Amino acid sequence: MYDSNFDMQRLMFHPGEVAHWLEHGQSRGPLYTEMALSTRCNCRCVFCGVDYLVNKTHDDIETADAKRIIDELHGLGNRAVMFAGHGESLLHTDALEIISHASAKMSTSVTTNGYPLDDAKLPLIDGLKWIRFSINGCDAANYAAVHRVPEAAFDQVMTNLERAVERKRSRKLGVVIGVQLVLLDENAGELVDFARRLKAVGVDYFSVKPFSQHPLSECQLKPDYAAQAHLEDALEALQDESFKVIYRARSIDRVNSEKRYEKCHGTHFISFVSANGNVCECNVFDGDPRFLTGNAREESLGAIWRGPRRQAVLDFIDHDLDIAKECRDICRMDECNCYLDRLKNPMDHDDFI
Ligand code: SF4
Ligand code: SF4
Repeated sequence: MYDSNFDMQRLMFHPGEVAHWLEHGQSRGPLYTEMALSTRCNCRCVFCGVDYLVNKTHDDIETADAKRIIDELHGLGNRAVMFAGHGESLLHTDALEIISHASAKMSTSVTTNGYPLDDAKLPLIDGLKWIRFSINGCDAANYAAVHRVPEAAFDQVMTNLERAVERKRSRKLGVVIGVQLVLLDENAGELVDFARRLKAVGVDYFSVKPFSQHPLSECQLKPDYAAQAHLEDALEALQDESFKVIYRARSIDRVNSEKRYEKCHGTHFISFVSANGNVCECNVFDGDPRFLTGNAREESLGAIWRGPRRQAVLDFIDHDLDIAKECRDICRMDECNCYLDRLKNPMDHDDFI
């Protein structure tokens, strides 16, 4: 069973790690890692937050390096890896081998645009906890306009999605298969029809999340979410026991709102490894040298995690980063940061549990 509340933080389910951090000011190691296998992507999405990085280089991580990094993460006590990042990880020739290696050691998931998940790579879903297809157009023409690919790509992605669902069913796999769409003015029109189609395909959920402006991104968008508010009820009416609609209303409300904490502590529990081996303290600032803690092709992750360079980055985040001005709205660690901030700054009535 999985919890479909995508707006909650799950750090509270690791009280021992949080207590260690509170006592020592350091976590023992990352609990969760996002790992990218490639900096290439077959899409050029109009909303891509990492457009300043994707396809600027063509790095695919060496397979042996990727497997060693996964082993090192396991040794550090890392519980889960999501394969995603600044590029499409499933374009990596050895995606099946690398992801299967990780799935044998820890909880794994994949976020993908779905296009490269052909029959040869499809078995990689067998060991996953979940896979999320990022499909941001509701039909072939809309998909082509948003992802900036030929229209035929939409049919290929939908075919790959159907094959994944079929494999899950025929093999009784535990993997949760979802589709996520970033709500834009460009794709809102046919959204309910698209949700009906996804339900018919048999995916487990359809998640609709807001666009959040990336501080370093070349694209600049301001979707009009007030105009789309009616979609929530229409989408949720499609739900039943086997098909969930996760309309991220809470996240939509938080876009452009003020940060609810003054310091970021969440990075103590998470790590990011890019396809070029760079390890950075926050994925929003991948490519920004202020956040770079080392390169996993040159040093072990343990040495990076405990090294002076990472400590300097943590000190910078703690003392000098102006999160109100620089950070992305509803970033990956937003909810975790609220929780950690409250632990660091308890309020008067918190003893009244
Ligand atoms: S699929 Fe993802 S990484 Fe590729 S262009 Fe689109 S948003 Fe960017
Ligand atoms: S974007 Fe979020 S996770 Fe990154 S440094 Fe800012 S508050 Fe922390």
